[in-house]
Amino acid sequence: MDTIESKVLLTNIQRFSLHDGPGIRTTVFLKGCSLRCPWCSNPENLRPQPEEYVKDGLPGTYGKHYAQDELLREVLKDKNFYEGKLEQSQWKITDSDQIEKLPGGVTFSGGEALLQMDSLVPVLQALKAQGIHTAVETCLFVPEENVRIAMEWIDFFYVDIKILNASKAQEVEKGRLDLYLQNLDILLNSGCPVVIRIPVIGGFTDDDENRDKVKKLLDRYRDQILKIELIKEHNLGESKYQSLNLPLPAYKGVSDALMEQYKKELEPLGIPVEVCKI
Ligand code: SF4
Repeated sequence: MDTIESKVLLTNIQRFSLHDGPGIRTTVFLKGCSLRCPWCSNPENLRPQPEEYVKDGLPGTYGKHYAQDELLREVLKDKNFYEGKLEQSQWKITDSDQIEKLPGGVTFSGGEALLQMDSLVPVLQALKAQGIHTAVETCLFVPEENVRIAMEWIDFFYVDIKILNASKAQEVEKGRLDLYLQNLDILLNSGCPVVIRIPVIGGFTDDDENRDKVKKLLDRYRDQILKIELIKEHNLGESKYQSLNLPLPAYKGVSDALMEQYKKELEPLGIPVEVCKI
């Protein structure tokens, strides 16, 4: 019988998603995160246990433990929408043009999906056996071992770059930057397909110094990164904060002009850069 430890804790399975990877995706939002970004729009996914909430006067619970076969059954309901199987030769792509040619599949998001790597492996193995493409959205602030397991079973990585000043990252996000940088190095040198996502957050990640650090870091890996996505955040997830009786996140938006300027600053690296709004 499955123990709670071997089950996967998640808050949502979002079907027919077009923004979480190639093709049509089923996105699984896992609960529990190693960071506490002040701009987080998914506060229901931070704590690694189910949580009671009250929304519009009605109580509910964020988070449910799924047995691995139960989760697999849920995502396989969308199998016909993934438009094709992943051939062995497609597992390691090296050019951003190839992203659009990949079939849809399953994306693991969160929270921090890689924190539940052990529980996810049997699900990933079963998906791979059926030729279904898998992706993950990760902040990479996780034990190195989790990244190494992920590299073995996950086909495609979306990796955040946020605050690159160690003391500020610790103070603001509650994360160890040295661990992140080490994991990033391991992942990018593995040959796994990686798209970098940069949330541009007023007062936290948008300043000259941080943009310069980001550029210098990406320069070191310019041949290993498929694409950079600059993310202009505007979804505060306010109702979810209210439902958990948490104070609303306080951060400033950034201008479209700054997004374009940031894009121009990164373009000389030779990596395709796209400005995205979420
Ligand atoms: S890494 Fe993502 S899920 Fe975790 S706190 Fe930051 S924004 Fe929220």
